[in-house]
Amino acid sequence: MSASSTTIIHGTIASDLLAWYDAHARVLPWRSPPGAPPPEPYRVWLSEVMLQQTTTAAAAPYYAKFIDRWPTVQALAAADEAEVMAAWAGLGYYSRARNLVAAARVVAERGGFPETEAGLRELPGVGAYIAAAVAAIAFGRRAVVVDANVERVVARLFAIGEPIPGARRAIRSSTDDVTPSGRAGDFAQAMMDLGATICTPRAPRCLLCPLAGSCRARQAGMPDNYPLKLPKKAKPSRAGTAFWIEREGAVWLVRRTRAGMLGGMRALPDDGWSARQDGSGKPPFAGRWRNAGAVRHVFTHCALTLSVRSIRATRDPAGEGEWWPVANLEGAGLPTLYAKAAARALDDAATQAETDRGDDQHHEAQVSPAV
Ligand code: SF4
Repeated sequence: MSASSTTIIHGTIASDLLAWYDAHARVLPWRSPPGAPPPEPYRVWLSEVMLQQTTTAAAAPYYAKFIDRWPTVQALAAADEAEVMAAWAGLGYYSRARNLVAAARVVAERGGFPETEAGLRELPGVGAYIAAAVAAIAFGRRAVVVDANVERVVARLFAIGEPIPGARRAIRSSTDDVTPSGRAGDFAQAMMDLGATICTPRAPRCLLCPLAGSCRARQAGMPDNYPLKLPKKAKPSRAGTAFWIEREGAVWLVRRTRAGMLGGMRALPDDGWSARQDGSGKPPFAGRWRNAGAVRHVFTHCALTLSVRSIRATRDPAGEGEWWPVANLEGAGLPTLYAKAAARALDDAATQAETDRGDDQHHEAQVSPAV
């Protein structure tokens, strides 16, 4: 293909995609409609940090909660970090919540967001993707925005024959080739929307695709094959134990150390498991511990089986911690792993209480005289 015909195809991709976006853009709470003035940088940045690890549907309630509670970057900068961490609970990657507060403080201090990719990248927790997305969407700067959706669309459009992650350089360069200088934010969001709604991981809807005429994977009749992927390595398995210590309607919670997994979050006490090694299985004090079952949780670096053991305490365990009312456990902002462990312990306690009631009734039936 000649250089000029390649340029024409690349130009067509941008204009075809933008025309499709004008008619089909998703309505999302952090967005401006196509062609409208951009949303506030705070909203774009906050949504992009959340969307790095979850879907738009899962991020939307978190986004609403954050905007309601901290409507401006100044409000977030003034927030108590522990409260932000608790509000983030369930989204995972908790270091991102800490970076969120740190970045908000830098932005508030300097009087606003930097407008360039390079400037944005200096903020805590802002990498290449978020910097490009915010520069394009909030400030209309031409930037090469490549998230997982865009990666898939571009790998298919150009039938990139190298597997991820090696293909990322070629994908980036092809995305650069098709990115227009005008409507930078709309183009980035249009690519994301196309990947989310039409060029989906499985069974892409090529018949509805505005780029079908330019798509090499489609022309070759195998869009699902792209992007090529190397076989996944199995994650190491780890084992640990969490301890449910209850007293007068409250459960003993600790704050995890800042370094390490789920750093700084409230949690049930545990046996020191980590991504690198199993826990000791040793409870924090001797007593009649009950096995309440186990939960599984998959992290980026390992798959954890967390046994849950429970006990009724008569005094405070050693070390720092707090008694938290069981009835308001949701307000503790436990990360998903410990929320699962807590649910397991409560479930086990409910089953046990039912069994005890059944035993009592059986016992009464045996000792009561017949009437
Ligand atoms: S034609 Fe099909 S594979 Fe190609 S970009 Fe469109 S939806 Fe994706």
